[in-house]
Amino acid sequence: MALALSRAGWDVVPALGRDDDVEDAAAGVDLLVIATPDASVADVAAAVTPSASTVVAHLAGSLGLDVLSSHPRRAALHPLVALPSAEVGADRLRGAWFAVAGDPFVREVVDALGGHALDVRDEDRAAYHAAACIASNHLVALLGQVERVAASAGLPLDAYLDLVRGTVDNVAHLGPAAALTGPVARGDWETVARHLASLDASERPAYEAMADAALRLTSTSRSDVEVLDTIAGFRKALDRERHAGRTVGLVPTMGYLHDGHASLIRRAAAECDVVAVTVFVNPLQFAANEDLSTYPRDLDGDVRLARESGASFVFAPPLEEMYPGKVLTSVHVSEVSEGLEGASRPTHFDGVATVVAKLFNASGECRAYFGEKDWQQLQVVRAMVRDLSFPVEIVGCPIVREPDGLAMSSRNVYLSPEERVAATVLHRALQAGAADIANARVVMAATVATEPSVDLDYADVVETDSAYRLLIAARVGRTRLIDNQGVAK
Ligand code: AMP
Repeated sequence: MALALSRAGWDVVPALGRDDDVEDAAAGVDLLVIATPDASVADVAAAVTPSASTVVAHLAGSLGLDVLSSHPRRAALHPLVALPSAEVGADRLRGAWFAVAGDPFVREVVDALGGHALDVRDEDRAAYHAAACIASNHLVALLGQVERVAASAGLPLDAYLDLVRGTVDNVAHLGPAAALTGPVARGDWETVARHLASLDASERPAYEAMADAALRLTSTSRSDVEVLDTIAGFRKALDRERHAGRTVGLVPTMGYLHDGHASLIRRAAAECDVVAVTVFVNPLQFAANEDLSTYPRDLDGDVRLARESGASFVFAPPLEEMYPGKVLTSVHVSEVSEGLEGASRPTHFDGVATVVAKLFNASGECRAYFGEKDWQQLQVVRAMVRDLSFPVEIVGCPIVREPDGLAMSSRNVYLSPEERVAATVLHRALQAGAADIANARVVMAATVATEPSVDLDYADVVETDSAYRLLIAARVGRTRLIDNQGVAK
């Protein structure tokens, strides 16, 4: 530092050594730099008599300003440079990056050396310094391993150094995730196993640790969602994730995604390492007179919303992929699928259970997120998973509503402006029922009757040990809507 600053034209006083008296070191200078080992910075700083005009700075990467507590003008200046000798160091300091904190005077030092200042707060200091050690010391340690492993095959380190330089250039241009190549990036675990078998046992832990670190990068390198349209491709993609030790969240949908779906995806992303959204309008769950042909679709919009909400995969199979021939197999869940929606749509839940079973078979072990918006469907899926031992944990998520209370639904786009206003009566009916639980059915029906354009299908209450569930279905014009609400006992 002294050499670099004197080359930059600064008047540098000869340095004091270990045995010198430092009491007056701050007198008559603009900047006193404490360049001792980290452990003695505080003692040296305390031994120097404070001066109102002198900036006292240390060069320790891991220390904050608190170690200079007695000095009115304190600063820290840490060059992000490896300094093996004074001569090499002075060269490297020119144009270097410096972590600065405290008195702004140290920025003049950085400017004098043509460097770049990084503001590092005291609480970030340890993380800043850890990253510096990884960048320099750990890299050297890794190159030591390169040297040993290469030597075991009779090869010189020099042969690998161009590879190292090229790799660092790639990282500078592309960032670490995109610069990653090799067997881990390709998911080629056979090659990784061959490498491990060839290594001396003492080299394996470091190799395995770095392979894990590389694996972490493969998940961050996928900044975009991967859209898959075959069951085999979907299964392979999720197998790869699980093989890498990542947990999978699954969000089955019929697409035309809205904020209700997004809440499921976001929850899955918060609780799982990767999230797959499935988009498939399942004909099996529509009766002949229902809206299969007009059901809204927008795969581009779905992919966008899935990406923004944190999904890594969208599985959007065409009809022939899901049902290549006449469907001869059906999953029927009894009891919980009877009544309510099951009464109004007798084939609906068989279609739901069958497609969800197919999706679970395609996805494999996962946590699957379903909305309470389709409360009876949630009970059907839970029963199916339990009875058929799918390796799937079902997570129920709360209903997301529009500001006026209407539950979000892909089918809301069918509503005319007048119908859209009238449709809010479903939510009002649920609230009125919840407020008078003993008469909930009558109260809900009476509330819906206040909207002549809304035709009630059912308004019912299901009782469990701990709660009531109020459920309602109605036709608003040609659009059938459902909603429900829980009331704790
Ligand atoms: P769908 O695309 O309508 O089949 O819905 C797919 C998943 O999203 C199901 O688990 C639904 O229960 C859930 N979902 C739909 N609308 C909402 C909503 N408004 N709030 C919460 N979840 C919802």
